[in-house]
Amino acid sequence: MDDSLCVSDCTDCPRLVDSRSQIVNGVGPTDAQLVFVGEGPGANEDEAGEPFVGRSGTVLDDALDNAGLARGAVRITNSVRCRPPENRDPRSGELDNCRRHLATELAAVDPAVVVALGKVPAQNLLDRSVAVTSEAGDVHDARVGETTHRVLICVHPAATLYDASQQDTFESTIQTAADLAGEGGDGDGQSRLGEW
Ligand code: URA
Repeated sequence: MDDSLCVSDCTDCPRLVDSRSQIVNGVGPTDAQLVFVGEGPGANEDEAGEPFVGRSGTVLDDALDNAGLARGAVRITNSVRCRPPENRDPRSGELDNCRRHLATELAAVDPAVVVALGKVPAQNLLDRSVAVTSEAGDVHDARVGETTHRVLICVHPAATLYDASQQDTFESTIQTAADLAGEGGDGDGQSRLGEW
């Protein structure tokens, strides 16, 4: 991995410095066409040092697989890189502090599509209130730091564990991500972003 995308030390959020056991950086190719952005590390990710390795990670991996995408072909990162205490949502100040790391990562990778996995990353990236269930599948331009990215709104994989009716929405949005980036099993390598 390109070390310049790894944050090796950060003490901007004292509460998170206390609750983390390590900083969880993004994983995946630094030239990926798809970047998936979650909320923040949970206990499994904090222990492993890799995003989405717990139950949510299994749901994400399965949906990627169904869309013909290998986990290793996409980049996976989070809105905050340190585990919040008791898995609470990251606070707005923490999201603001970590935004520069996300901005650096997205600018360097420059993907065709950034997939916001759930309300926290969608609101953080789009800088507005988002109703994820009704807006899932929508694409918007978002300015992150100095760069503009195309952001696809998706429900969080964990939502499918609490509410099975979210499964179809989740799977079809991951398929949309693959189609938009021209990736995946049925992809012809041609991005469909021009159609949006
Ligand atoms: N949920 C997230 O939002 N991110 C992870 O890395 C794991 C679970």
